[in-house]
Amino acid sequence: MKIFKGPNLSNGWKCPICGTDEDKEVVLIGVNGTQRDNLIESHQYHLSCIELLEHDMGQDLVLAMRIVKRKPGWPE
Ligand SMILES: [Zn+2]
Repeated sequence: MKIFKGPNLSNGWKCPICGTDEDKEVVLIGVNGTQRDNLIESHQYHLSCIELLEHDMGQDLVLAMRIVKRKPGWPE
């Protein structure tokens, strides 16, 4: 996972978790199902807004993103 020092704000980006465009470290998370050749659609998230957890599913090992912060109004 590559960490960037700040977000790319060129398209009016807001973090999907906290809803802000705060200038702090972000990561790109690939969207499953969008892989084509060596490219994948990705979304930016503040590093401090997410947590990656490993889930042992028997034959599969799944990495899941846990939301650390939520936008106001999101259900708990
Ligand atoms: Zn955020």
